[in-house]
Amino acid sequence: MKGEKQAAFYQSVLNSFDKAAALTDLPKGLLSQIRECNAVYQMRFPVKINNQFQVIEAYRVQHSQHRTPTKGGIRFSSQVNQEEVMALASLMTFKCALVDVPFGGAKGGVKISPRKYTEVQLEKITRRYTTELIRKNFIGAALDVPAPDYGTGAREMAWIFDTYNTFKIGDIDSLACVTGKPITQGGIRGRTEATGRGVYYGLRELLNQADEMEAVGLTTGISGKRLVIQGLGNVGSYTATISQNEGGAIIVGVSELEGTIYNPDGMDIDKLIKYRKENGTMIGFPGSKKLEDRDGWVSLDCDVLVPAALESQIHKGNAGSIKAKIIAEAANGPVSDDAEDILRDKGIIVLPDMYLNAGGVTVSYFEWLKNLSHMRFGRMEKRFNQNTYSSLVDLVEKTTGKVIGKRERQVVARGADEVDLVRSGLEETMITAYYQIKDVKSRRKRVHDYRSAAFIAALNKIGSDYLNMGIFP
Ligand code: GLU
Repeated sequence: MKGEKQAAFYQSVLNSFDKAAALTDLPKGLLSQIRECNAVYQMRFPVKINNQFQVIEAYRVQHSQHRTPTKGGIRFSSQVNQEEVMALASLMTFKCALVDVPFGGAKGGVKISPRKYTEVQLEKITRRYTTELIRKNFIGAALDVPAPDYGTGAREMAWIFDTYNTFKIGDIDSLACVTGKPITQGGIRGRTEATGRGVYYGLRELLNQADEMEAVGLTTGISGKRLVIQGLGNVGSYTATISQNEGGAIIVGVSELEGTIYNPDGMDIDKLIKYRKENGTMIGFPGSKKLEDRDGWVSLDCDVLVPAALESQIHKGNAGSIKAKIIAEAANGPVSDDAEDILRDKGIIVLPDMYLNAGGVTVSYFEWLKNLSHMRFGRMEKRFNQNTYSSLVDLVEKTTGKVIGKRERQVVARGADEVDLVRSGLEETMITAYYQIKDVKSRRKRVHDYRSAAFIAALNKIGSDYLNMGIFP
């Protein structure tokens, strides 16, 4: 039934929350406060499309203001409904806490299928939606900061910023009202790839753990691991290309709207993305086989399954058929809570969304800081570092009597650019958060899975934020 899936998604998030909350020492009242969505703004607005008025249904949900601004993407999808946005907003709160991004959680949704509208129509809808947010103080650098999500990207963020800026004359921080903007309009280098790159760093960290790999019967290291990717959108495509090109992973299967393709020997993901762009489909990609059943990606033979599209893809109906040893939740909510027991019994590790896809909001945080500081990262220190490293190379040459090659010098004596700093900050964030979760998992006897451990790590941080406010004695 309509909306049933999304309601189940929200319930699934609440169930996972309750399961983890029962394992914390936080006061009950405080846990109930953290659990609920603080503000739900449901709107309907008319937009004239082809000379006819269409009433658009849209939402913005602020889950928690224990830290402000609240933060989270805006989704354009025909599946959007209130429960879905509430579930996604809740996940944002825990995600931000986990990776120490000092924001509360929020999410927006516009119930449209973007492919059915022209660019001009989409701009009209986006600008009108932004106006609704402005009217209710649901957007602003210190209030609530949207970003891209499923069905939106830098283009929509540029429209949002421009609309906001038109209304808020004289607001010196208006650029920080939205993140994921194009570089030319206050965006940050490395934001587009950030979620996928974060997935790569997180997965690589797990695969480097000898104890975890021994338990699932895999060797350590990402190199040579066989990945199946569901969804070649922003998150799925960057996860796949970075895992292949930087980690040496092998992409054996890819699932998209047109179907699922498979090649046990691996497929060059860069070539596949190019092929899909040129042909409008992946089907027919040289060396690959098409599966009869598109949903068969779930049970493909592989080491790591990477759902990178929408929620509730792995559920009790198909969890039993999974052959992978690890599920890497690049999407939000791809595994329903009713599948968790089955996966646990099969010994499958689930790296949860709230950790694994936190790279997007992490780099959004860097963008927000950049916008508030009104300065590009690296501007102050790049040349200083370059000169210092260069002097060091000179010194080494002098003391050893050897000449260091031009290329080696270029590699060593280089000051960091903005993108280098963003990647370094993201890598540090993902690795630190991984060990925080692993620490909870290994110390607590009753915690057996990464999702509960991640929830507990996040809840403890949010709880202490509330307790520090002195509201909960
Ligand atoms: N939509 C992304 C997410 O689900 C990014 C949110 C943001 O950057 O604020 O995490």
